[in-house]
Amino acid sequence: MFFWDNGLRLARADLAIDFSRRQPRAFISHAHSDHMARHAYALCTPATAALYHCRLGPRPTLEIPYREPIQWGGLRLTTFPAGHCLGSAMLLAEDGEQSLLYTGDFKLSPSATAEPAELPQADILIIESTYGHPDYRLPPRNQAVEELVDRVGNALSEGALAVIEAYPLGKAQEVTRLLTAAGIPVLQHPAISPISRIYESFGVDLGEYGLWTGRPDPGRAAVVPPRTRPLDRGREVRFAVTGWANSASAKYRLRVDHAIALSDHADYDQLFEAVRRVAPRTIYCTHGPESFADRLREAGYDARPLGRPLQRTLF
Ligand SMILES: [Zn+2]
Repeated sequence: MFFWDNGLRLARADLAIDFSRRQPRAFISHAHSDHMARHAYALCTPATAALYHCRLGPRPTLEIPYREPIQWGGLRLTTFPAGHCLGSAMLLAEDGEQSLLYTGDFKLSPSATAEPAELPQADILIIESTYGHPDYRLPPRNQAVEELVDRVGNALSEGALAVIEAYPLGKAQEVTRLLTAAGIPVLQHPAISPISRIYESFGVDLGEYGLWTGRPDPGRAAVVPPRTRPLDRGREVRFAVTGWANSASAKYRLRVDHAIALSDHADYDQLFEAVRRVAPRTIYCTHGPESFADRLREAGYDARPLGRPLQRTLF
């Protein structure tokens, strides 16, 4: 049904999955740059299509809304929300005898700006396991949100500029929504606001926010891409909002004053929960530590890492 050729392909449909180099036909699970390229023809959800076109220019695209199956190359393909960012999708491929679920990047916990994840059952599960190590158990989401809002509020009340580093697609909109909902005025970096407008065109309310001009503006929180240069003047308190912030040393590694552990990826416990819900016969793990497949096997699953040349001729 699929094979690995420095990337995942659905064999029968001749469809590349989440390739970051150009393909004749590719499925794009979501519009993060490491999951897409200027493909000749792309399949994705309508929101991912809008974000893909915004980031890489207009391209030939077939839109597959969530839960609306299409027939493609002898397979029935259905997308389900992945909970990772706007438009992010899992792909269910069925041939009438077997089913395969590819999760792409996903998370099960709630989001202020992404559709809640839905996990259908499948015979074969290909799971994105970035946090597939027991060290990656994230704090409860409410706790991370509270820490973000409190620390940003404190910085602003002390007359500093709060600068929050967040990936331009997904995390930046989530942070904006969390801060505006708490009554904190937000300015967005120009690399972020065009993406935010697409979120709004798909009905996601981000609250009121302005455009950051790069000048000191005490009393407001600036949401900027990671590693945006510090301002020359004025005191700033810098934050990083990332799942990689789950250790006390993270703020030194990320060179920020505060690192907030709010992730768009499933943590270790959510990965196991996802496997339980899908109830697969066979599991292939991508993007994470190879030891995650060992942990799954210890729990009684048939699991192995995916990433070496592999031919599956199931049908
Ligand atoms: Zn992603």
